[in-house]
Amino acid sequence: MSNIRVLVTGVCGRMGRLVTETIRGESDMLLVAGVDPTGAGSDLGEITSGRTSGMTVHGELAPAIAGSNPQVMVDFTTPAAVLANLREALSRKVACVVGTTGIPEAGFDEITRLCDENDTPAVIAPNFSLGAVLMMRFAAEAASRYDYAQVMEMHHPDKKDAPSGTAMRTAKLIAEAKGKRMESPPPTHVELPGVMGGELGGIGVHAARIEGVVADQKVLFGGVGETLSIEHRTTGRECFMPGMLLAVRQVMDQKGLVVGLENIL
Ligand code: NAP
Repeated sequence: MSNIRVLVTGVCGRMGRLVTETIRGESDMLLVAGVDPTGAGSDLGEITSGRTSGMTVHGELAPAIAGSNPQVMVDFTTPAAVLANLREALSRKVACVVGTTGIPEAGFDEITRLCDENDTPAVIAPNFSLGAVLMMRFAAEAASRYDYAQVMEMHHPDKKDAPSGTAMRTAKLIAEAKGKRMESPPPTHVELPGVMGGELGGIGVHAARIEGVVADQKVLFGGVGETLSIEHRTTGRECFMPGMLLAVRQVMDQKGLVVGLENIL
């Protein structure tokens, strides 16, 4: 069987550099191109590993696809870039694996349509780590037993979107599993605007940005005389790599848009 031809977008970013090096280390994958306007024209290996690779970073996706004929695009870019990248890749029948978060709800409808129209699959996972997937699964399981729930996420200060895609997905899964609003009593007096965080289906959603953290989340359920806390902590971005690789290996066997790593595990 021939190697999977992979193009990576966002190769100069924190995730993109690691994704690129991880793919280069896999014997069944071939990195055919890297795209990132930040490093356009630079040697790809110099950016991702400090070692010259002879591959040049592309500044634009369309010529990169045309020149490298990828089967799969892996996107870890920004909320502002990801939809345009998906439009370009899917219209050229390149299957997509997306880790970028902050895609608006309407964006998912468009991606579903693009996948169907072009008969090309995509896997989007707001979190590629196994622990985060289990955290979401356990939270959904607990949802029906409790009437109060809070999702609290913490990330590094350079994260562009808030709340995190994982926090949004967790809240959605809890809301779906509960089937009705959680209790969400309004405070009678708020001294500091925004202090109560956001809210989805009665579930409080809170985001904090602080140096020293990669990506942490706690889900807290409250019942009479007890709380249940489900916590996931990330100590290194390596935790996202096995899930990302699994998605690259499986995406071409999917039909349409698949959201969530749990759906391909
Ligand atoms: P980052 O360090 O800001 O990297 C993003 C890179 O993409 C930057 O170099 C950026 O360049 C580049 N970029 C912008 N527009 C582009 C385009 N049109 N084509 C190609 N590259 C483009 O961010 P990060 O920390 O690596 O995170 C990337 C995304 O992954 C975020 O949305 C984050 O939330 C998400 N994430 C997901 C998971 C998961 O498991 N799913 C895990 C961790 C992070 P500029 O700096 O010039 O804009």
